[in-house]
Amino acid sequence: MITQNPVLVLNQNYQPLNICNVKRALALILLEKAESTVDGQELIKSPTQSFNIPIVIRLMSYIHKPIHPKKISRQGVLSRDKNTCQYCGMSSESLTLDHIIPKSRGGKHTWENVVAACIKCNHKKAGSTPQEAKMKLINKAKKPNTDSNYMIKGKTVKEWKPFLISV
Ligand SMILES: [Zn+2]
Repeated sequence: MITQNPVLVLNQNYQPLNICNVKRALALILLEKAESTVDGQELIKSPTQSFNIPIVIRLMSYIHKPIHPKKISRQGVLSRDKNTCQYCGMSSESLTLDHIIPKSRGGKHTWENVVAACIKCNHKKAGSTPQEAKMKLINKAKKPNTDSNYMIKGKTVKEWKPFLISV
């Protein structure tokens, strides 16, 4: 359904706010709460009017939105690490989460201390630190870029890119 397509919602100052669907975006436009910034090619027809489906809309008034740091989650870690073991680089559907500094040694459950690891590497590393186990991390563990909030199935919509630079 085209009305379910994702639409990027910009704040009045062009900062990305969230994602909604075409149906909601058109409702905001009809209520004059938003304007279409980027239109798609496809048309959506009502008995009396037809509209290009919006791809990016901008709110007419500024919304104060506190920026919440994204909370760590299993899915979040796996997608940050692209479903790849951060020790051996193997990509797998059945990855585990590894605490770089083991929990038993005071390691915290944070973005900076949790990585995706395959079962073999997790088992090999067990209760040691990467240095002790002589296992090097492929990437430094860090908080995911807020850009990832604006990805649909791991990809950014092409027309959204110019608006996401400021994120
Ligand atoms: Zn591995």
